[in-house]
Amino acid sequence: MLLTKLEIKGFKSFADKTVINFNEGITGIVGPNGCGKSNVIDAIRWVLGEQKTKALRSEKMENIIFNGTKNRKAAQMAEVSLTFINNKSILPTEYNNITITRRYYRTGDSEYELNGVKCRLKDVTNLFLDTGINSNSYAIIELKMIDELLNDKENSRRGLFEEAAGISKFKIRKKETIKKLEGTDKDIERIDDILFEIE
Ligand code: ATP
Repeated sequence: MLLTKLEIKGFKSFADKTVINFNEGITGIVGPNGCGKSNVIDAIRWVLGEQKTKALRSEKMENIIFNGTKNRKAAQMAEVSLTFINNKSILPTEYNNITITRRYYRTGDSEYELNGVKCRLKDVTNLFLDTGINSNSYAIIELKMIDELLNDKENSRRGLFEEAAGISKFKIRKKETIKKLEGTDKDIERIDDILFEIE
């Protein structure tokens, strides 16, 4: 699987549409301090569904939208698209090229798309589950994360192995199922109460 293209518009310091093509091999991003190198990583993390503003180095989600300069109006929307070639069928989809898009408006509305079709955040998360590519997986490693792994903070080492071994998705599904069962138990209790009243 190859990450081939990142398109950013209105996200943090990227006011204009910026396209970064990734060729095979290693891509390095260089530039002076504050030019926006880390913003590129933030954009990748964000389009993959990151919800924690702290992980995006922002206080609130609105701050990820280009906030203008002396000569330029602030943007009303941030948009990031990330394209993959699914050549090894790692992603569970029949498509060979997959583009995920996320938009966020100043009004607080947000949208996700998979190959141009509107979808839910859950669809994006499910697509990348156990592939090592999601907003907080081992595909994006920051210095802070290395510290956490070395200190095994919040069982982070175990989490990493679980993601690599492909069992995260089962843990998530188990959690969802337990929640549904709890809901069903409550419904049964309620029905029992009603039956008791009728009888
Ligand atoms: P360093 O090498 O020092 O780590 P960097 O190249 O990684 O720097 P970033 O942290 O990616 O730089 O970018 C910081 C720049 O992004 C700052 O100039 C900041 O003003 C700008 N920036 C962040 N959020 C926004 C926003 N919402 N609108 C406009 N500019 C923004």
